[in-house]
Amino acid sequence: MFMSNLTKEVMSEVIVIGAGLAGCELSYQLAERGISVQLYEMKPTARSPAHVSEHFAELVCSNSFRSNNPMNAVGLLKEEMRRMKSLIMQAAEHAKVPAGDALAVNRDVFAAFIHARIEAHPNIEVVNACVKKIPDVDKPVVCATGPLTAPELAQNIIEKIGTDSMAFYDAIAPIIDADSINFEHAYFKSRWDKGEARDYVNCPMDQSTYAAFIREMLAADAVHAKSFEELHYFEGCLPLEEMASRGIETLRFGPLKPVGLAHPETDERFHAVLQLRKENVHGTAYNLVGCQTRLKQPDQKRIFRMVPGLENARFLRFGAIHRNTYLNTPDILQPDFSLKDQLSTQPIYFAGQMTGVEGYVESTASGMLVAASIAARLSGRTFDCPPPETMLGGLARHVRGELILPKRAYEPSNITWALVPPPEKRPKSKKQRKEILANRARDALTLWLQQHDDPYLNVSSDEMV
Ligand SMILES: Cc1cc2nc3c(=O)[nH]c(=O)nc-3n(C[C@H](O)[C@H](O)[C@H](O)COP(=O)(O)OP(=O)(O)OC[C@H]3O[C@@H](n4cnc5c(N)ncnc54)[C@H](O)[C@@H]3O)c2cc1C
Repeated sequence: MFMSNLTKEVMSEVIVIGAGLAGCELSYQLAERGISVQLYEMKPTARSPAHVSEHFAELVCSNSFRSNNPMNAVGLLKEEMRRMKSLIMQAAEHAKVPAGDALAVNRDVFAAFIHARIEAHPNIEVVNACVKKIPDVDKPVVCATGPLTAPELAQNIIEKIGTDSMAFYDAIAPIIDADSINFEHAYFKSRWDKGEARDYVNCPMDQSTYAAFIREMLAADAVHAKSFEELHYFEGCLPLEEMASRGIETLRFGPLKPVGLAHPETDERFHAVLQLRKENVHGTAYNLVGCQTRLKQPDQKRIFRMVPGLENARFLRFGAIHRNTYLNTPDILQPDFSLKDQLSTQPIYFAGQMTGVEGYVESTASGMLVAASIAARLSGRTFDCPPPETMLGGLARHVRGELILPKRAYEPSNITWALVPPPEKRPKSKKQRKEILANRARDALTLWLQQHDDPYLNVSSDEMV
């Protein structure tokens, strides 16, 4: 029985809610496999505050898909997506504009291409409606309604999963590559020597460095919030620059507190200490503790590099605070991305940015993974996820919570090298490291595609529609 506001008789095999990047990619990938899809999209009847176009797969902000270079994590993810016949990657190629190393598009040409492909597909029926409740039907339903999911549907999801499992804002601190920390200044130690010393790296500051750090932070530009993003910060999660503006000593009594962090060999005490906490099970990335920030990215780079030990910091993720509806997927989803505790005939899947992946490319990739998972279920196969060495596999492991350290909260992430295991042997250079990781990922995906029993993925790309 239908419990939603969906009014049409449902003849499809799968219902998808949200024709954004993830929803379009996954609907198309299912449809190309011969699976019929009903795709619900609220535009133009209703719109989020950021969506303005008539078309599906709208890029709400930048027109860039970031680096197209496969020696870069996001570039390699794109290469894998092309190999897995991504509609969004085809559209980006069709609509691309010159942008150096990056893949940037004419957003109207891009979205129009996707819209036309979706509407023309014989296995996709588009329904124009704002879905208020996840329908109760004997078939897979996918919710891909994005970071600005319509409020009534968000409320309905909360009723299913509980308030603690959905967040509406990101307040994230930068993450840096462990190899870029300068241990001539930085040292391992946990506060008061409680716990594992190697879980924390400490970057000490003397009085003048600290004063300069605060001065630069206060002079720097923050990203201005859009009106619908105006935030009422929780005291426990204030942006660093907001805390710094309350007085020169505030950070020394907050996230940059030096107590219990005397140097383990010299016993030297410092004026302030910026702590970094191990971010992943591989120990290849560290998080700048308590440094959530709205500073613009070039300012983050410049100002954090003023801290001794971080002079050469390579940022895997920048700090940000913005509107973002996302779920605590490691707790609520099964490894195939469907909600736990559902009847096997009524699986509810989640895809796209709301699963805690960040960005256009990552959200699209999530749509591909969910399509592969549903296709496997409908044909009676077990879902076989791309291997951990691939970017797609790393993204899947992130969503499943396989990379989080114990007792740590799930945080959204874009694709970075930190989501794949480090090379077995220590490479000679940064360049060599990337080459090793990229070649390993390519080989792993090739093997996986050869062994994979999903006919769609085994048809040569020349045969693509
Ligand atoms: C203000 C803002 C700026 C951003 N800037 C960037 C950027 O510059 N670069 C970047 O990589 N990422 C950016 N992002 C993140 C970006 O939005 C996502 O990465 C990407 O669009 C997510 O894809 P998605 O398919 O999960 O969701 P979306 O692309 O948002 O698609 C969701 C779709 O679901 C529809 N929908 C929502 N609720 C319902 C409902 N109840 N019923 C029916 N339809 C519904 C929406 O209308 C929309 O079409 C930004 C996000 C925001 C909010």
